[in-house]
Amino acid sequence: MSAARRSQGAATIPARVLRVCALYPGLMNIYADRGNLIVLERRCAWRGIGFQLAASGLGEQLDGDAHDLFYIGGGQDRDQRLCARDLIETKRAGLCAAAARGAVVLGICGGYQLLGRSYTLPLPPAGTMRGRCGDDEIEGVGLLNVRTVREDGPRLIGNVAIEVTLEDAPRVPAAGASGRAGQDLDGPTARGRTAVLAGFENHGGRTRLCEGQQPLGRVLKGHGNDGRSGLEGARAGNTIGTYLHGPLLPKNVWFADWLIARALGLAADELAPLDDAIERQTHESALRAAGV
Ligand code: GLN
Repeated sequence: MSAARRSQGAATIPARVLRVCALYPGLMNIYADRGNLIVLERRCAWRGIGFQLAASGLGEQLDGDAHDLFYIGGGQDRDQRLCARDLIETKRAGLCAAAARGAVVLGICGGYQLLGRSYTLPLPPAGTMRGRCGDDEIEGVGLLNVRTVREDGPRLIGNVAIEVTLEDAPRVPAAGASGRAGQDLDGPTARGRTAVLAGFENHGGRTRLCEGQQPLGRVLKGHGNDGRSGLEGARAGNTIGTYLHGPLLPKNVWFADWLIARALGLAADELAPLDDAIERQTHESALRAAGV
């Protein structure tokens, strides 16, 4: 669909380019998480915003100044081990410098775990991938002050909805279920708007927020970080980790816009509105699936 057809009113923003870097797109990409990148690309294109997608895989250095948004999807434990070592050795400095200057860093599930301090999981015995022989602590990049442990309990699986409070969340004009997104908070201490993210989670790791770490949101339905705390994800500035697959952004395009705006240094309402009738139905369907 053309930008002219999708864009509703406000002028497109010329000469802007969103520069995205996907980390380990071959290894860290389960549950179709790459759909998140497609949503970013489409929503930029429909507005006349340029879009550049680069990838950084195992062994490749990372130029933290060359991108506005870094993305790492979900992964299997085995692949996370490979990526974790590489993240530390070849990418941590660049990624941390980028986060410090305000670039967006988004980690989904396994990617979220690797943005934290550590992921502790059973060590497979030598020569086999089966059985339990002690635990192994994988070091993460430490952008989020969280620690994840793979416990013996069941995997945390299912549809999930969380309530987030974000400064500058875009208003969603529809009534109905998605009308919750973008509502003003009441009261003198309110500095943001509540909004709802819906998705699907499937993780064995339980994530604990360490001192001072803010969650991304509060669980309305589902398990969240550990199935106990009622908290989901983590956020530090523009670095965000969440267990929501789905993929996340097709089910929550308002959040895609929030990320695009943050990455470009814009307020959310500086992005031209789009005709999101279908996307809102998708969001509402994901909310219904979660029972919200
Ligand atoms: N392997 C990790 C876990 O099971 C992450 C899974 C995922 O990315 N869905 O906790």
